[in-house]
Amino acid sequence: MARYCRPLHTELREIQQLHSVLPAPAQQVLPAPAQQAAPPPRPSSLAKQWTLKAATAEAKPHSPLHREQALSLPRYISTDKKPLACHRARLRLANSRLHAHLFRRHLTPSASCPHCGGVPETAEHILEDCPTYALKRQRCKQALLSIQVPFSAHLCLGTLPAALRPSVADQILACTGEFITAIQHARCF
Ligand SMILES: [Zn+2]
Repeated sequence: MARYCRPLHTELREIQQLHSVLPAPAQQVLPAPAQQAAPPPRPSSLAKQWTLKAATAEAKPHSPLHREQALSLPRYISTDKKPLACHRARLRLANSRLHAHLFRRHLTPSASCPHCGGVPETAEHILEDCPTYALKRQRCKQALLSIQVPFSAHLCLGTLPAALRPSVADQILACTGEFITAIQHARCF
């Protein structure tokens, strides 16, 4: 039986050889984590860059992009007070409580104006034609004529000519805003 047992010194030599070989792979393995450890700085550097970009964007609110976005919006949004801007937007987008707008959403059986009958109660109707608001309309017309601007429903809805001086545009929006507010008090839309 003793012939089949490996001598102890043979075992020890093999173990030493094995240990002498193992360090080499261990050294090969070590660089890999070192290489993998290298990437983490990149996200942090990217994060710093993004932070810097965000800080730069916040520091420059009047960049060309912001200016283009501001120019693409109707002027009344930045000029009107919030309730008036909401009333004007509802009329512009046909999303008010006027009968024509409710009828389009299947929320009322008829689109007719309750005062005129047979005529759809649209934004253009209450702004230009409906006799119920004739006095308020007349005041708005006179205010616009004082700055030599003809009355129209488009102006009341905030659609202004592109080549218009800002001061004139603001006066138009103020006059038509009073008209819309007066109508809103009489006919909640
Ligand atoms: Zn009417």
